[in-house]
Amino acid sequence: MSQKIITAKVIISAWDKEPLFEGALVIEGEVIKDIGPQEKILKLYPEAQVFDFAQNGMVFPGLVNAHTHCSMTIFRGLADDLPLMSWLENYIFPVEKHLKPRWVYWGAKLAVAEMLRSGVTLFADMYIFEPEVIRVVEETGIRGLLGEGLFDFPSPGYGPLEKGLALTESLLRDFERHPRLKIMVCPHATYTCGPETLKKAKALAERFGARVHIHLSENRDEINMIEARYGKRPPEHLLDIGLLDENLLIAHGVELNKSEIDLLSRYQVKVAHCPESNLKLASGIAPVPAMLEAGITVALGTDGPASNNDLDLLGEMRTATLIQKGTHLEATVLPARQVLGLATELGAKALGFEQCGRLEPGYAADLAVLDLTKSHLTPLYDPFSLLVYSAKSGDIAAVMVGGDFLLYEGQIKSLDEDQTRGEVLAISQEIRDLLRQKG
Ligand SMILES: [Zn+2]
Repeated sequence: MSQKIITAKVIISAWDKEPLFEGALVIEGEVIKDIGPQEKILKLYPEAQVFDFAQNGMVFPGLVNAHTHCSMTIFRGLADDLPLMSWLENYIFPVEKHLKPRWVYWGAKLAVAEMLRSGVTLFADMYIFEPEVIRVVEETGIRGLLGEGLFDFPSPGYGPLEKGLALTESLLRDFERHPRLKIMVCPHATYTCGPETLKKAKALAERFGARVHIHLSENRDEINMIEARYGKRPPEHLLDIGLLDENLLIAHGVELNKSEIDLLSRYQVKVAHCPESNLKLASGIAPVPAMLEAGITVALGTDGPASNNDLDLLGEMRTATLIQKGTHLEATVLPARQVLGLATELGAKALGFEQCGRLEPGYAADLAVLDLTKSHLTPLYDPFSLLVYSAKSGDIAAVMVGGDFLLYEGQIKSLDEDQTRGEVLAISQEIRDLLRQKG
């Protein structure tokens, strides 16, 4: 089996380990085989092909974007600074009614380029026409946990709900043994899916041991709506329907009280925290330190790029820690190391990719290399601080998924970025025309 060696100025093998300076990683096939000092590793594996970042590279585990609707790159900047409901009802929903598979495909392709350039190697995605996103994941080599968004009302993607469930089932079957791709069942939210839909989604997921992914407790309006409809708050509503368990991944979890945090912890529910989307849509700030304290697996997500407006996980890490410090009036809360943990090992665990998130023997060779030659990345005292507080998405020199370089020497393999940008620009003109016709 082919062996590769990556040498680096410094390697962060895991968020809870000390960084290794002048280190080297050995990759055999798709996994990490060894890690150690450069001199020793180069002697031990003389046949391996060497990729040299020894002067200016910092290697770290590939980042995990735990919640997005990545094809919404096509709506980036279409309408901003609006309340959630008028943004949705006047702009997003009217255009999504006319959504085309081709739009979702090119939107996802642009998104994968953007994510790779910010060091993302695994992402969770829920959208309409999700088979198009699946196609992009297959073509590009990135890892994904993907699912078609399910609603009580007809979807432009599949029509009536029953067809959405059938589509999800066939995807679960088709990709049961895929090395990089898993399917999840995605009832959109408790206000778009009634109890019957949620029960059907859960039953389907259970047959395949799959994740269920849902937006939950995102803002006060949602709490009020669910309380008015069912006489209880969203977590208790899901408990009564039977959805709470270790296979449930919720997005947001902003409006959670102490007893709800305990409830989610007891049932080992996973949470995808999306700080920038929560700030932009004025939803609030999730109680991340309290969730971590309670032992909840908290991951980090960007949410759709139309409510962020980017897919930059490095920026998301920085926002996640800064907003907690600012609201707790406590500088020690959610330190750089811990927030990297959310974006790597905890993210991978939340998505059910237990083999990812650390660079240790036996783990998947999913990693990114930071280019240390930049002015704003100089000098280097603490690798964790540098990564979380100073690094930006343009600083990533290389990205590897499953032992293959997807980004190397400035080029993304198996994805033509110029063509992709051109296609999305053309789509944005179609969207402009559509909105103009609506007047
Ligand atoms: Zn979302």
